[in-house]
Amino acid sequence: MTNNKFNISIIVPMFNEGENVNVFYERMTNLLNSYDYNYTIICINDGSKDDTMERLRIVASQDKRVKVINLSRNFGKEIAMSAGLRYSQSDIVIPIDADLQDPPEVIPLLIEKWKEGYDVVYATRLKREGETWFKKFTAHFFYRVIGKMTRFEIPADTGDFRLMTKQVVEALNKLPEQHRFMKGLFSWVGFKQTSISYYREPRYAGKSSFNYWKLWNFAIEGITSFSFAPLQIATYLGLVIAGLSLLYAIYLIVATITLGNAVAGYPSLMVAILFFGGVQLMTLGLIGEYVGRIYNESKRRPLYLVKEEINVDNSQRSFELTLLK
Ligand code: UDP
Ligand code: MG
Repeated sequence: MTNNKFNISIIVPMFNEGENVNVFYERMTNLLNSYDYNYTIICINDGSKDDTMERLRIVASQDKRVKVINLSRNFGKEIAMSAGLRYSQSDIVIPIDADLQDPPEVIPLLIEKWKEGYDVVYATRLKREGETWFKKFTAHFFYRVIGKMTRFEIPADTGDFRLMTKQVVEALNKLPEQHRFMKGLFSWVGFKQTSISYYREPRYAGKSSFNYWKLWNFAIEGITSFSFAPLQIATYLGLVIAGLSLLYAIYLIVATITLGNAVAGYPSLMVAILFFGGVQLMTLGLIGEYVGRIYNESKRRPLYLVKEEINVDNSQRSFELTLLK
């Protein structure tokens, strides 16, 4: 396509982004208008506790191209984004953060790549401004670990900011799982993918809602959603320990026969009991992580509930209605 006669959906999950709504809207629309793109901005209010919804209401009343999906509570970014994807019917879809960490100015670059014939163009962060070395270090480590554990490639240092064609989005919308580790799902669907690099900016206002505990859980979610490796580690750990115990048993027998009575000390007994107790609890917990996820999936609840939609007409809902009347 050489002209700009395609539609773009911009998907913006928002949780307590009141301070960012107006600036985001201004900067985004200025850019999209300057390129003369046809666009829709789909904002998902993910149960914000501040004035995000009020501000969105005002923006949407003045601009019909802004659609607002108000979820019934906070479902988390992954689900909010999944909701947005279901509402997008454009030729290309771009999820982006509301805090302007992903600069809208990168969008034309993504579109250029798409025009070269790619289905997915993801934006890889060259540098992360305004984030601690510890966050950068753990993020780096996480991408390496998950990269080793999955059978398909999850690009490192890549967030959810990317361009996808309608076909890719339809594929994503067909995935039924409740545990939606989007970075993994984006890769899992495949298609022709490429990347561009960009500088990730600091947050415009407000603060990140991902603390380390949330990030840790996010990492576990990613790994358990896409890999059995931890379960296999338990098997091998068990094998190794059993092997070592056998050797130790043989040593004890031989020592008793050759050197006579040797009642082993209390400390070694205690260490062994505590160690194996720990390993057993850990592996049980590990299995629990998977069982818990099976439990959640088996409930088959809707992914999210919608409290209110603004500027959305019925034809835009090509999926099962989860709107509460
Ligand atoms: N977000 C969301 N629901 C949540 C947490 C975050 O929709 O429960 C949105 C948030 O409003 C922002 C994006 O997800 O648009 C990224 O969040 P944040 O900036 O807190 O994460 P970080 O950039 O630190 O990874
Ligand atoms: Mg952010």
